[in-house]
Amino acid sequence: MALTGLARDTIARRLQHLQSVRDRVVIDADTHPSSPALYSDALRRRLAADPNYFHGRPISGEELLRDMDHAGVDMALCWQNPAAITYTDDPRENFAALRAANVAIAELAQRNPTRVIPAGWTDPKALGEDEAAQLVQLCVEEWGFPIVKMNPAQNRFPIDSPVVLRMVDRIVALGAVPAFHFGADTAFTPAEGLRTVALRHPEWPVIGVHMGGGGPAYVEGEPLYQAARALGLSCPNIFFVLSAKRDTHMESDLITYRLAGPPFAHNIAVASDAPYGRISWNFGGFRAMFATLRDGAAHGDPRLRANPGLFDNAAVHDFMGRNLADLVIRTDLRLLRSPAAAEHEVAAGEAHADGDQGEGDGEQDSTEGGEHLEVAGFAKVVEQHCHGAGVGADQEDCRG
Ligand SMILES: [Zn+2]
Repeated sequence: MALTGLARDTIARRLQHLQSVRDRVVIDADTHPSSPALYSDALRRRLAADPNYFHGRPISGEELLRDMDHAGVDMALCWQNPAAITYTDDPRENFAALRAANVAIAELAQRNPTRVIPAGWTDPKALGEDEAAQLVQLCVEEWGFPIVKMNPAQNRFPIDSPVVLRMVDRIVALGAVPAFHFGADTAFTPAEGLRTVALRHPEWPVIGVHMGGGGPAYVEGEPLYQAARALGLSCPNIFFVLSAKRDTHMESDLITYRLAGPPFAHNIAVASDAPYGRISWNFGGFRAMFATLRDGAAHGDPRLRANPGLFDNAAVHDFMGRNLADLVIRTDLRLLRSPAAAEHEVAAGEAHADGDQGEGDGEQDSTEGGEHLEVAGFAKVVEQHCHGAGVGADQEDCRG
């Protein structure tokens, strides 16, 4: 299988849009819209009977877009809402349910290509390894998703299980970015577990959603909050999404990573975790927090008073949208230039965009089983992107 025409068009359109807005876009990097057509009867009855919020209470794509408008958010990274689907004991039924939820995300992105960045979701535990791998392939090659997530907490499996690492290998081999719920709400995602995942493909990005938050009790969450902050500084390929985490720790994360400079200052994006959090509340809070960070001389953090200009407009914009935009841009460029994409072009008899489809600098990445994966040259693609954007070849120079 190779990228379908739909996937190629989806990726190309998204890439063009993100390249045109990266210097001003505001992105919510963690949202979970659902299709009401997929709600179970029980969920439908509960929604009709109870207007109050309950954990994970689903919102439709249209509701999400309205909330984004209210909050001044241009785009959202969207994956399915695990609270809106029901698993059974039958892995095939679970595959069908999760497939349908991913299709709903793909269709939402098709309808709103300038608002929605679609991301996939797979689950090796509920689906079984083969079906979970099949879903990864559909997410990337059929629907053109740049990111595929697993949730070790809600789906209940250790983040560094062998089967999870094999799923990471598959996502990477397809050219996409693996993402994980990474929180202190369960014991399934310790910092060492995410480190194992990150070291599996050290030149490849991996996304840790919640940066150690995710809804633990405040005191219980403290050790992972601290460990996550340190982990990212030792693994430059980890990209963190700041959502569902104490605001005080989020502020410290932002100051720490801004002080650390590139690449770390480019490895964080802010988010709401809607519908688990409100977009308006979170982005209202982020904007207010950044206003105080901009006023470094008057800030309570001594690191800021010593570096009062640390949070200039460019720094704030990085965290509010550009960091994630650039991660998706790099990924989309890689997907369009992947061996799978080249295969599709040959099959369709299309001319190559240029003569450089060989990926001659692809890395050899050994896996536990001794098998080798050909992966596209990440650094090379970054260089291409920078040239395309009319700035220097150095990755750090890419950034405003
Ligand atoms: Zn989330």
